[in-house]
Amino acid sequence: MTNVTDINSRRCGLCSGYIEPLRSPTTGEVVWEGGHNALPIADTRCCNECNVHRVIPARIDQLNSR
Ligand SMILES: [Zn+2]
Repeated sequence: MTNVTDINSRRCGLCSGYIEPLRSPTTGEVVWEGGHNALPIADTRCCNECNVHRVIPARIDQLNSR
C-alpha cells in the first residue's frame, strides 16, 4: 500500500491536478484518497479524469497488442 499522507501524493502525476478523495455515496465519508494507479502510462497516482481518459484506454491498447 502506498503512503498517501503526503500532500504531493494527492496530486495527479499526469495532469498535476488534485486527486479527489473518493467518498461513500451513503455516508459521505472519505473511503479512499489515493487516486488511481497510472500504470502503464507512469508509475504514479492519477486523478479520476486521467484514469478514465488516459489510463484505461492505455490498458486496453496494451491488452489488444498482446
Ligand atoms: Zn489527472
